[in-house]
Amino acid sequence: MSATRVLVVEDEPEIADAIVARLRTEGFAATAVGDGDAAVEQCRQLRPDLVVLDLMLPGIDGLEVCRRIQSDRRVPVVMLTARDDETDLVVGLSVGADDYLTKPFSPRELVARIRAVLRRAEDARRGTVLRHADLQLDHAARRVQQRGHAVHLTPIEFDLLAHLLERPDTVFPRELLLAEVWGDTSGTGTRTVDSHVRSLRRKLGDASVRTVHGVGYGLGPGGHA
Ligand code: CA
Repeated sequence: MSATRVLVVEDEPEIADAIVARLRTEGFAATAVGDGDAAVEQCRQLRPDLVVLDLMLPGIDGLEVCRRIQSDRRVPVVMLTARDDETDLVVGLSVGADDYLTKPFSPRELVARIRAVLRRAEDARRGTVLRHADLQLDHAARRVQQRGHAVHLTPIEFDLLAHLLERPDTVFPRELLLAEVWGDTSGTGTRTVDSHVRSLRRKLGDASVRTVHGVGYGLGPGGHA
């Protein structure tokens, strides 16, 4: 089997070089470009399996790059942002990235996230329909309905909800969700989990995900219909 192809879009050469070096060490075929136009072009030519995409780029920015490459075909994207509040912002904009990582991050953490995104993309191809209360989630079609109406979720929101739906009676510690959904075992990025739970509640109602204080998150009240 040929190596998994990763396109790195990052205008800071030191960061780009460090990412590419680490990915190659881990057995990926990695290529870097430094601006948005080159990213769109290389996506067409290389047909990467995953794109690591910096938000702030010269020329067309990461959000627009994400839109353009996704309009061609579905490709998993891990977005890099400079600050936590930028992450919150792009999560809110639902741009279609599969995961977000705030700088500075360790190359080890990025590789863990990349592997988790690739694994979820593979799981999604297998397909199941999960139901809980007024929610229905179709893994293969990557669609969520609430009371029969389609709800638009970002890829990572979808994966988080799917994870909760797979074990509807479980309360997950935030660190566990971070590890199992994001592949991040450092335990330091739990704010990422919080922002995505907030975003799910905005779309599905406050009762969709419950907080168990001192423990973590689980599905809200309802149970099987
Ligand atoms: Ca940048």
